[in-house]
Amino acid sequence: LVILGIESSCDDTSASVIRNEYILSNIIANQDVHKLYGGVIPELASRAHQQSIIPVVDRALSVAGVTRKEIDVVAFTRGPGLLGSLLVGTSFAKGFSLGLNIPMVEVNHLQGHVLAHFLREEGKPMRYPAFPFLCLLVSGGNSQLVLVKDYLEMTVVGQTLDDAAGEAFDKCAKVMGLPYPGGPLIDKLAKEGNPKAFKFNKPVIQGYNYSFSGLKTSFLYFLRDALVLNPNFIEENQADLCASLQATIIDILMDKLIKLAKEYGVTEIAVAGGVSANSGLRQRMIDEGAKRGWNVYIPDFRYTTDNAAMIAIAGYYSYLKGNRASLDIAPLARMVF
Ligand code: ATP
Ligand code: FE
Repeated sequence: LVILGIESSCDDTSASVIRNEYILSNIIANQDVHKLYGGVIPELASRAHQQSIIPVVDRALSVAGVTRKEIDVVAFTRGPGLLGSLLVGTSFAKGFSLGLNIPMVEVNHLQGHVLAHFLREEGKPMRYPAFPFLCLLVSGGNSQLVLVKDYLEMTVVGQTLDDAAGEAFDKCAKVMGLPYPGGPLIDKLAKEGNPKAFKFNKPVIQGYNYSFSGLKTSFLYFLRDALVLNPNFIEENQADLCASLQATIIDILMDKLIKLAKEYGVTEIAVAGGVSANSGLRQRMIDEGAKRGWNVYIPDFRYTTDNAAMIAIAGYYSYLKGNRASLDIAPLARMVF
């Protein structure tokens, strides 16, 4: 089965061709325009998607070495995401499906992030989690603890009550004057810093939910007070600030994951979403796994942030289950599992 996956939920236009679980191509066009504004501007994102979608799909087909006629199914992100952005991918999928008379399958973007674990590459050994597993899903818009019972059977056990972990990285980076998206930069700078240099407040929340807005505020006030005494405080302490902030975010994420894994007695533990690109989080998963006897699954860097290969594989499993989308389907800005 050859699947074309289309992803356009936020600010990356992506198309991918897979054959069953095997990746043939995965093309991603990033949108630099948002760097000017320090965040994603929805209207500019949808316009950039319109410009990129056809060249990106063309490239995905040519890299995969398949023609349009060889595509059996088109899978697209229905949501959650920016409505204008989703509309471009959804409309493209409809046109493609109609023009080639092939079925279309909708994909929940967040399920896509989780299912990225099942993507395979020719000639590369793969390990993937056994069901049921727990997945820490941490991205720019979401932070969730997901119990994955089967490919498309997932339950959100805990989630953020306010900001996502990626948002915490990006917003704190902005406060330090770093460009958007700040997450990868904090990761880089943190490598040179001391994670114990500064202490920031961790939220006290019962159960398995997260909260990151308090951390953001405490970081902001901490810097405001420090800058009164030393106007060069940020420049002089950049690496330590990044390392301490990153360590705090990782602690918050791991505390609940560890608690949940114990409570459920699950030792198959995965991480997914853009923030799973973070080297500190990846290392911490490995360390905790070794300590606690977990089997830990961390996706390849390429499949952590938004990409269409994860949409294609989610669409593949959905198609096998018999799901089809009709041509009157509309994208959804908010979407639960
Ligand atoms: P969602 O999937 O919730 O709709 P999204 O698609 O915008 O959100 P992703 O592309 O999955 O999010 O992830 C982007 C986020 O990941 C950004 O907040 C970015 O800062 C963060 N991120 C990427 N790399 C790193 C890193 N190395 N360290 C920390 N954060 C990172
Ligand atoms: Fe995403």
